[in-house]
Amino acid sequence: MDLSKLKSIADADVSGKRVIVRADLNVPVADGKVSDATRLERILAGLQDLSRRGARVIVISHFGRPKNGPDPAFTLQPVAAKLGELLGQNVVFIPACIGDEAEARVAALKPGQIAVLENLRFHGGEEKNEREFVDALARNGDIYVNDAFSAAHRAHASTAGLASVLPAYAGPLMLEEIGALRAVLDKPERPVAALVGGAKVSSKIPILKHLVGKVDKLIIGGGMANTFLMSHGVDVGKSLAEPDFVDTAREIMAAAKSTGCAVVLPEDAVIAREFRSGVAHAHVPILTVPSDALILDVGPRSVAHICDVIKECRTLLWNGPLGAFEVPPFGDGTFAVAREAARLTKEGKLVTVAGGGDTVAALNGAGITGDFTYVSTAGGAFLEWLEGRELPGVAALAKAWN
Ligand code: AMP
Repeated sequence: MDLSKLKSIADADVSGKRVIVRADLNVPVADGKVSDATRLERILAGLQDLSRRGARVIVISHFGRPKNGPDPAFTLQPVAAKLGELLGQNVVFIPACIGDEAEARVAALKPGQIAVLENLRFHGGEEKNEREFVDALARNGDIYVNDAFSAAHRAHASTAGLASVLPAYAGPLMLEEIGALRAVLDKPERPVAALVGGAKVSSKIPILKHLVGKVDKLIIGGGMANTFLMSHGVDVGKSLAEPDFVDTAREIMAAAKSTGCAVVLPEDAVIAREFRSGVAHAHVPILTVPSDALILDVGPRSVAHICDVIKECRTLLWNGPLGAFEVPPFGDGTFAVAREAARLTKEGKLVTVAGGGDTVAALNGAGITGDFTYVSTAGGAFLEWLEGRELPGVAALAKAWN
């Protein structure tokens, strides 16, 4: 995939044109109200820009996982209302995404107006990327913009199909996400460190294998570090660990050695007899974990070592917490390292890019999310990029101009 082929919608003539924008409106909704608008806030500037440039903007998205066609529980109507509120302008909700009525209402939009079409997943053709559905969607637009990096790991009608039938452009959020990921993985300022934490090695094998070929330092924390420690003969007591993946951990260590990537493992741990808030806990050197204890966080010596490592680096990629951060005090290690990374970022000494799964929640817990260079809300797509996989939604945009 040649990313230099991506075309930015910023450079296209959109005046008076019907511009279909694939956004990610899949936000949490409770009691008919959007409960977390983070994803919506990120697309506002792009939509406002198109509107100001005189485009007739048609936003399309999936929402949840409706099983059998149209289902009021999965309507995008409340999301459209919230979007209008955030944009400070009326957003037209069109209760269909294909068909005569949708086409007529789209045709009636005035330049500058923004509309949201109903949930794409009310039609099976969306996830199957069916040509008929792609063509029906395409009848609503003259230009297609994909601004949903977070859905780009799926080859659906709205993420891949449309790029082959309409002039296809990348939206600003898509370009921002790709730019941030390339800044850490393709052309980073070195040395570059990756901090990978979280529960299990088994869920992150492809990521770890890919990263050892890309980064100078691989810092491993969280429950998954326990499996690596086991591979060194360390007794991790009753901690979360995956004995079946000890050999995988050894393979990753060997791969790191061959590429010259230094692996940093915890040297001490915060332990407890039970996993619950406020339980009695202690820190111990990693070689003295009692056989009835659980490792629930990295200890202060590990935190100091990790901070020293990142201080010597120019770039940090972060995915996954260093401990069971949701339960106090086992978030302290993650929060301390996050604060140091944020401080270095603010001083202009470190480029910090984080994302995937619980990482955003962990950084929010440290109160520093806004201080990182870039925090991705993309989840699955972010992780697949870390695995080195080609994302169909991005590849379709690059291919569109061949
Ligand atoms: P992941 O989704 O793989 O990034 O894993 C995130 C989860 O890993 C969080 O829910 C953490 O509570 C959990 N976790 C991190 N470290 C530990 C640990 N030492 N023991 C148990 N769970 C952990």
